[in-house]
Amino acid sequence: MAATISSFSTSLFTKTKSSTSKSKPHFQSLTITSASKPSNPSIAGRKLRVAVIGGGPAGSSAAEALALGGIETFIFERNPPSVAKPCGGAIPLCMLDEFDIPRDLIDRQVTSMRIFSPSNIAVDFGKTLKSHEFIAMLRREVLDSFLRSRAISAGASLISGLVTAVDIPFSPTSPYTIHYTAENNSSRRSLAVDVVIGADGANSRVAKSIDAGSYSCAIAFQERIKLPDDKMSYYENLAEMYVGNDVSPDFYAWVFPKCDHVAVGTGTVRSKHDIKLYQKGIRERVGSKINGGKVIKVEAHPIPEHPRPIRVKGRVALVGDAAGYVTKCSGEGIYFAAKSGRVCGNGVVKASEGGDKMIGECDLRREYLKEWDAKYVNTFRFLDVLQRVFYGSNAGREALVELCGDEYVQRMTFESYLYKKLAHGRVCDDVKLLMNTIGTLVKCKVIHTQMEGLIL
Ligand SMILES: Cc1cc2nc3c(=O)[nH]c(=O)nc-3n(C[C@H](O)[C@H](O)[C@H](O)COP(=O)(O)OP(=O)(O)OC[C@H]3O[C@@H](n4cnc5c(N)ncnc54)[C@H](O)[C@@H]3O)c2cc1C
Repeated sequence: MAATISSFSTSLFTKTKSSTSKSKPHFQSLTITSASKPSNPSIAGRKLRVAVIGGGPAGSSAAEALALGGIETFIFERNPPSVAKPCGGAIPLCMLDEFDIPRDLIDRQVTSMRIFSPSNIAVDFGKTLKSHEFIAMLRREVLDSFLRSRAISAGASLISGLVTAVDIPFSPTSPYTIHYTAENNSSRRSLAVDVVIGADGANSRVAKSIDAGSYSCAIAFQERIKLPDDKMSYYENLAEMYVGNDVSPDFYAWVFPKCDHVAVGTGTVRSKHDIKLYQKGIRERVGSKINGGKVIKVEAHPIPEHPRPIRVKGRVALVGDAAGYVTKCSGEGIYFAAKSGRVCGNGVVKASEGGDKMIGECDLRREYLKEWDAKYVNTFRFLDVLQRVFYGSNAGREALVELCGDEYVQRMTFESYLYKKLAHGRVCDDVKLLMNTIGTLVKCKVIHTQMEGLIL
């Protein structure tokens, strides 16, 4: 059911023409009946109401889980479906099955990955992929529209508008008030809800409203370049990664194939002011392969570097980029956004017993944060260490590319990436890999410079 704002129960809304972020909330008070359990009181005559702010992968997945679980769900999105979030659009294989993503949404099935060292040594990195394995490349406008529509079909109500503020209540059962400007910018409105899920990306307004603390960000810059047919056919199922001081002081640059163009971009934390210089660097390195191409779009966006100090406060939870779930090394965040949204949504459903009970901070901590951290904290830590060892200097990057030539490294890397599990290898191969890694790092003179600074 594609419910829009006009089809909502009017009792939930208060038109607040003069309302600002500082205005007093105009909400209907919530009726709480006597508690059947001391911690979670029942809600009389209605279901738990949850506002999800942001309709990207995190928000849509949260909203879908909530709506399927019987919660009255509102999803706020400021952009129309045609607007694409700046992104490379690469997702792992496991996401297709886990999130039932139809294959016809995929632009390219990448089966070949080429990584270029600072001295331009190229290593092919997809040799161990099995015949059914690939990295899926999508356009975000396509993926996001699909996930959002599915959340709406599950019963979530879409509110097209910009959330401007969230009023925090003083009591543990009073409502939160979401202030927003409706799509056509003509009116300011507000909505009272029991729980808020902040899925509003790296510049999260929800995070600010609960003083969740900041995180350091990388800036990523990307050009979409339409290539002549013969040049495009080179990138048919090939993605490229480039490392070196010329393309980024602390990350990698990429060429990712899309339906009828390539996305060429780079990122950096350390030297954001020089991002255009690094973009020039990657264009130079890719060289003749993109000559004759026409830039059809230029985009830039922050990428969080680590989780926020606070991800749950009261009855507010942050998911996806708003929480800071992008892995180092790969800069991957789509899967983790969708997954965190779903874990959080399911957690709310469970704690509220299908929307019949009020929930509290401890429920969100137990059902969402604890489960999330148990599953992924080690993956995030591991990739953080890899980035610091291998991306910090040209010597480290040469070592990285050399190691990428090793078939065992390729198999372990792809298994971990495609299936989102830290792959378990054979002990003898792991020992061999460790020795090879140390040998390569020593050879490339990385051991003393990079390893010394490592703090886990
Ligand atoms: C250049 C670049 C390349 C990338 N490449 C990849 C890649 O190839 N693979 C990968 O896995 N990850 C990649 N990432 C990271 C990935 O894009 C993010 O991790 C992912 O988009 C996070 O999803 P999200 O739903 O948490 O947030 P977002 O996708 O940012 O969605 C947030 C949504 O909230 C909406 N919103 C924000 N504020 C408000 C408001 N106040 N009111 C209403 N709506 C609001 C926005 O319009 C948006 O739709 C890349 C990032 C960048 C910048």
